[in-house]
Amino acid sequence: MIITLKDDMKPEQYTSLLERIKSKGFEANFDRGKEATVIGVRGDTRKIEENYFMVDGVKSVKRVSKRWKEVSREFKNADTIVDVSGVKLGNGYFNVIAGPCSVESEEQIMDVAEKVKKAGATLLRGGAFKPRSSPYDFQGLGEPALEILAKARDKFNLPIVTEIMEAEHLELFSTYDIDMYQVGARNMQNFNLLKKLGSINKPVLLKRGLSGTIDEWLSCAEYIVANGNPNVVLCERGIRTFETAYRNVLDLNAVAYVKEVSHLPIIVDPSHATGKLSLVPDMSKAAVAAGAHGLLLEVHPDPKNALSDANQQLTPEQFSKLMKDITLLSGILYLQSFD
Ligand code: PEP
Ligand code: MN
Repeated sequence: MIITLKDDMKPEQYTSLLERIKSKGFEANFDRGKEATVIGVRGDTRKIEENYFMVDGVKSVKRVSKRWKEVSREFKNADTIVDVSGVKLGNGYFNVIAGPCSVESEEQIMDVAEKVKKAGATLLRGGAFKPRSSPYDFQGLGEPALEILAKARDKFNLPIVTEIMEAEHLELFSTYDIDMYQVGARNMQNFNLLKKLGSINKPVLLKRGLSGTIDEWLSCAEYIVANGNPNVVLCERGIRTFETAYRNVLDLNAVAYVKEVSHLPIIVDPSHATGKLSLVPDMSKAAVAAGAHGLLLEVHPDPKNALSDANQQLTPEQFSKLMKDITLLSGILYLQSFD
């Protein structure tokens, strides 16, 4: 429910409205927009009539039409900015998360961290627990990989992003003070994990499921936000379609559309979206042009011998060149925005 306040609402009317909201067990989310000051009512308001909040000082009360209420722009118009240990993600910022698909050794991570940082990446990634299609494929180093990532973070001052596959790993992740928890495509609808991530305040990178509709994806983000954690960044990583020429189809409509309907930041992962190294640079530029708030790119010192996703990882040199192109493109787009 969205309560729009009158410009001349008196402080005592405001206090009484807040008490009315709290008395039903709801929480008030205050949003001072450009056009109006509104209160979003947090909680399941389906059984409450709109006129229950139509009290003195209130201009109008409207029910939010979306099932993913709290992540919608109807509920909160202002863009959410997610702070990942000092790195801000969202509108007005552009960040690149870079690193290998999997953490394979300390040497590999230290090498890649130094190079991606130098090229302009602001966050370091690497999988410790890997969701693999075959049980015979490399499953990740597990806990030792978290330790390696934490070392690289401390050495290069790069916050780390790594995938959490199950709620049982929350304690382990907190031991290594992981800066951002990735929920992978295959776990997008792991509702138990999403609820648990809602109860901690760590930033979450929520990837779109392989065949997840935008409605399903935003409903998953709602699980985290409605459970108390507003720090969610969405990641478009390609979807399954009838096309088989490449690994997935990068849905760039999603970037423009999600920005329209949701206040959450959205980044693009061209590595998994294409699965093909030769397509990564062009699709990265396309994502920038589409208005993404950042990119996630897989970078490996020796891609051909990578233990996972060998076909899509950039070398540090290729990454560095791409970063230069992206910076140039962002500059052009920025200048054009003044026309
Ligand atoms: C990954 O980031 O390495 C990964 C497995 O991604 P996704 O969940 O998008 O397939
Ligand atoms: Mn990967």
